[in-house]
Amino acid sequence: MSCMLQLRDIHFSYPNRRPRETISGVTIEVGAGELVALLGPNGSGKSTLLSIALGALKPDRGEVLFDGSPVARFSRRELAQRMAMVAEQRDIRFPMTALEYVLTGRFAYTNALGFDSPGDVEIAMQALSDTDAAQFANRRFNELSSGERQRVTLARALAQQPRLLLLDEPTANADIAHQLSLLDLVRRLTRERNLGALIVTHEINLASEFADRVVLIKDGRLAACGAPIEVMTAESLSSLFETPLFVTRHPQSGAPVVSWKLIGPRKNEQ
Ligand code: ADP
Ligand code: MG
Repeated sequence: MSCMLQLRDIHFSYPNRRPRETISGVTIEVGAGELVALLGPNGSGKSTLLSIALGALKPDRGEVLFDGSPVARFSRRELAQRMAMVAEQRDIRFPMTALEYVLTGRFAYTNALGFDSPGDVEIAMQALSDTDAAQFANRRFNELSSGERQRVTLARALAQQPRLLLLDEPTANADIAHQLSLLDLVRRLTRERNLGALIVTHEINLASEFADRVVLIKDGRLAACGAPIEVMTAESLSSLFETPLFVTRHPQSGAPVVSWKLIGPRKNEQ
């Protein structure tokens, strides 16, 4: 598998928190056609790693390569044609419809005057329909529910026609049906369009089902990396989240299914 994104031995500290390192020596690779899930407790550095991958934050040490070239050498436009980030969008500043918002994802391709061509509108509408959000096209973005906004935000990233998707908790506000369809869509994009995807999620069971590989991050360090079946053990996950967990198997797929251990008397024993 060709390696599209490489984070190599990344060290990073936020200027206002030096010398404390937020990221200490993390190496992650994402290939074309591969879905990689980044799991770890709150504050472990997952969002920071996505910003570093996107070139928005510069590592103190280590390097980020896209197709073997340092991302620091790409222009904003070149980067936007390669990578798209899906992060939580709260209210956007100007009142825009969902379609207008998705069209802003075309900035990497539009001409100098910035007008949308009919082709751009077609691509934006297709992206909205891919994320089951076409019915929101003419609604105000700010008036959508947060789960609906997430689908529109993913559509904006797809309209960017990137080769790599970086997704920061894209299903955090979605109902179970949309969590599944969103992960299924991302996996199909990796299979059918050979996209790479790096996804941060707290839906560990969805990560287990859909990811080709999982990366466990704790305190800015790599705790483990590998296929879900190898890495997502009760021992490793209990230690990662510092809480007693157990792992069974999904009855259909055999993927690890994580649940919590009960401490104290159970309901039916009281
Ligand atoms: P995660 O996404 O895994 O929850 P983050 O990458 O957002 O974690 O944050 C990692 C650590 O860096 C946390 O301790 C957080 O408080 C800190 N942090 C995040 N953003 C900033 C910032 N802009 N300035 C200073 N510290 C930050
Ligand atoms: Mg985060």
